Amino acid sequence: MSDQIVIIGGGQAGVQLADSLRREGHEGAITLVGEETQAPYQRPPLSKAFLLDQLEESRLPLRPDAFYEQRRITTRFGIRADMINRENKTVALETGDKLPYDQLALCLGTQVRIPPIPGIDKPHVMALRTLDDSLRLKTALRDARSVAVIGGGFIGLEVAASARKLGCDVTIVEALDRVMKRAVSEPVSRFFEDLHRAQGSTLLLESMTEEITDDGLRLAGNTIIPADLVVLGTGVTPCHELALKAGLACDNGIVVDSFGRTSDPDIVAIGDCASHPNHLTGERLRLESVQNAIDGAKAAARNLTGNPTPYTAVPWFWSDQFDIKLQMAGLSHGTDTAVTRGDPDARSFSIFYFKLGRLMAVDSINAPADHMAARRILANDDRALKPQDAADPAFDLKQAF
Ligand SMILES: Cc1cc2nc3c(=O)[nH]c(=O)nc-3n(C[C@H](O)[C@H](O)[C@H](O)COP(=O)(O)OP(=O)(O)OC[C@H]3O[C@@H](n4cnc5c(N)ncnc54)[C@H](O)[C@@H]3O)c2cc1C
Repeated sequence: MSDQIVIIGGGQAGVQLADSLRREGHEGAITLVGEETQAPYQRPPLSKAFLLDQLEESRLPLRPDAFYEQRRITTRFGIRADMINRENKTVALETGDKLPYDQLALCLGTQVRIPPIPGIDKPHVMALRTLDDSLRLKTALRDARSVAVIGGGFIGLEVAASARKLGCDVTIVEALDRVMKRAVSEPVSRFFEDLHRAQGSTLLLESMTEEITDDGLRLAGNTIIPADLVVLGTGVTPCHELALKAGLACDNGIVVDSFGRTSDPDIVAIGDCASHPNHLTGERLRLESVQNAIDGAKAAARNLTGNPTPYTAVPWFWSDQFDIKLQMAGLSHGTDTAVTRGDPDARSFSIFYFKLGRLMAVDSINAPADHMAARRILANDDRALKPQDAADPAFDLKQAF
């Protein structure tokens, strides 16, 4: 295939797509456009090991510099794509250059959701999405004594754990009645709430921030939280403006079919910015994970090289907070039965979620073998494991795959 493929977005999905296109035999030109100045890098360490100085910046790039030249991938980093002209099949860059394409891939990721809280633009308020954000936050954390984190989702909790490990007084303010509510079941939320409290952080649930002041937060009910650094863990929204301007269908992300195709057959969308029909739940979903970006890109590369393959990978995700590793496989939303394997008091256990007898998801806490088994069962035969066997520590999960 000699088509010219332009990829917009130099993140996890964009780089994987460029790599996989070559592996699938694409011979034509590949141009990777990314608005960030750095070569594509891993984001997960930005709230964890990198923030704690346990991983050097030189370890962050997703591929070595030589990779792009060796694979004949033309890079345009530090440049934003401004407009897609679907009629002429060109992408206009902010430099004024126009890139012609035969096939276009949108790998645009997400941006931090900035809630309309008075004081949100004060200099001691920080969000975390990019390497530059993490570098700024790293410096600020060294100087901070007290940190308030707005939002008890994954990134908020990971930053809170890092800040606490660095010796800061930490307060987490969550609007909902439990942490990570969108992603995990109640027992997992409660486990992590206990963990953060046991480590000395203050966790306030069902608490709304009304104002960010020069020296902290004012919550509903006039509770004052002192803080010399405020971190936003308020979630993200998909970067789909470019697609919207081009007239592509968008609904909480760029709408794609199970082959990653947008409403224009010559344009695919992959990763955090794309909303796909999920084969497990039967619902349209937008996932924000490294796995989704990588597996989505691999499937798209096959589709773009004439080997149509629907995207049916099992979703998985991880989060590190203090000495606890949470690993999630599948999707637990809407399940009807949950059984626990292992011992929560020993801080090593998994919760297996079933729906109508089918295994749908497993959340593992410091139980990597359960997580790996769960991924294999979910990929092979989700009826192969019965709830009573999952709950029985003597049952070898390998028997189910
Ligand atoms: C702090 C942090 C911690 C995380 N931890 C985990 C974790 O533990 N586990 C996990 O699975 N996931 C984690 N994630 C999520 C994971 O990093 C994302 O799901 C993944 O990066 C998504 O890849 P992507 O390519 O879709 O988007 P991104 O990696 O965000 O890349 C999108 C790129 O497109 C660029 N772009 C957007 N618009 C344009 C334009 N118009 N022109 C040019 N370039 C453009 C953006 O600048 C960005 O560089 C974490 C994310 C963050 C921020």
